Amino acid sequence: MLTPLLVANWKMNKTIAEAEAFALALNAAQRTTEREVVVCGPFTTLNALRKTLSPEIGVGAQTMHQAESGAFTGEISATMVREVGCSHVIIGHSERRQYFGETDATVHEKILTALHHNLIPIVCVGELLEQRQNNETETVVTTQIHAALRELSAEQIAKVVIAYEPIWAIGTGLAATPEQAQAVHALIRALTSVQTRILYGGSVTPENIKTLMAQPDINGGLVGGASLDVQKFLQIINY
Ligand code: PEP
Repeated sequence: MLTPLLVANWKMNKTIAEAEAFALALNAAQRTTEREVVVCGPFTTLNALRKTLSPEIGVGAQTMHQAESGAFTGEISATMVREVGCSHVIIGHSERRQYFGETDATVHEKILTALHHNLIPIVCVGELLEQRQNNETETVVTTQIHAALRELSAEQIAKVVIAYEPIWAIGTGLAATPEQAQAVHALIRALTSVQTRILYGGSVTPENIKTLMAQPDINGGLVGGASLDVQKFLQIINY
């Protein structure tokens, strides 16, 4: 069985002081073993997170640029993300696609750059409400996965983490049902490999994590809002 992976995505929340306090509380708490945990904070918190969190807890960035370096004002490269101690990087979050112009093509380039730098990409895919209502979920997710993973070797695909995040479920309090999520996870499994971890994201809470994790193809969670509160995130880790 794949070790469950629980990832916090803080988005644009928490100062360095708040990140340190969260990390100390997470270190001190009782955590179920056999769970992998990664905290993805804003860039400004990453150094403090890596220095404060116990070594077995991973640190991730929420995005990075695909180029090695250059004239990209405001951007951060894979080398910089690695240098600050990150093991993971979220790529193609729907908010990046919606507000910052990320496309299937840039997502693909970022995955290649991340893998080249030994960063584990957490690649987000998912459909809009309208697409689900039009029965387009399968087509949308298949297109996103094909574009993201095209020309990757089986070995590379096994290293990638996929996060299925239906856009209608992100930050809405309306999570996909375990059955809805499992149906898409099974599709993603068929498009990837048995070793690829497939996370569910979208209004994950301490209350719904257990039934989601009981599904055969759900290998973890990408948690936004509920990960801001260390006690809630701990309950999710210890589901
Ligand atoms: C996310 O940020 O990826 C997310 C799923 O957010 P939330 O848990 O708040 O829905």
